[in-house]
Amino acid sequence: MPDISRYIRRENLPHIWCGGCGHGIVMGAVIRAIDRAGLDQDKTVVVSGIGCSSRAPGYLDFNTLHTTHGRALAFATGIKLARPELNIIVITGDGDLAAIGGNHFIHACRRNIGITTVCFNNGIYGMTSGQSSPMTPKGKLASTAPYGNIDRAFDLCELARASGATYVARSTTYHTTMLINQITKGLQRQGFSFVEALSQCPTYYGRRNRLGAGAKMMEWYRDNAVTAAAYEKLAPESRGEKFVIGEMYSTEEPEYTQEYQKIIDRLSGGGEAR
Ligand code: SF4
Ligand code: MG
Repeated sequence: MPDISRYIRRENLPHIWCGGCGHGIVMGAVIRAIDRAGLDQDKTVVVSGIGCSSRAPGYLDFNTLHTTHGRALAFATGIKLARPELNIIVITGDGDLAAIGGNHFIHACRRNIGITTVCFNNGIYGMTSGQSSPMTPKGKLASTAPYGNIDRAFDLCELARASGATYVARSTTYHTTMLINQITKGLQRQGFSFVEALSQCPTYYGRRNRLGAGAKMMEWYRDNAVTAAAYEKLAPESRGEKFVIGEMYSTEEPEYTQEYQKIIDRLSGGGEAR
């Protein structure tokens, strides 16, 4: 196993996450993927918004930015445009990314800008005590849905793919090897990569929905996550709460800052803008 302690700001520990929270597992997957992808620590930037997951960059020894709610991708876009040679990673939660940050998300995907985004999806607003998010499953309880959530949740991977992301994958805190592999692949790509990491919140989502402690919630991931091929074979009435994990989409398209650089080069050479 690689020694990943050099990526941790020990002076900022202990972390704020509750016992059994999945976010430490996802953060661990991010740094193992960075290590595996061989990124230069000093040329790597980790940007987050607001929420429990967005506290992660505070514990990571890279160039880090803890920004405003929903705006991590906007800040990250600015950094990538100014310094395209840097490796940019966004760490975000489901509320941060899919609600207030939803528009930034679809447009970052559409541009195919070279950012790897990892969404720590716990299906709830954890930091503000358990309000429903766009990722709270229909029928589940939240402080703002005490009789059951009637909203339908997004499929974030479908949204990312439809919006133009060129690498899209999903895993869980139980399937950590897969998660590390997916984030590593995302980091190795030129364009916009999106990895959705299902991560348990036992304190609010789990307790309110009587799902048990963190380990129990991870067992639920183990028992309900299936591959796309296995999901297709299931009769619709037996799919229940089963969900698909794995690589959803992978293609190559021109990366945004490289396209932008072409215009700069053309104009610097005295050419026409088009
Ligand atoms: Fe994790 Fe939920 Fe606690 Fe936030 S509130 S640290 S998401 S368990
Ligand atoms: Mg959340």
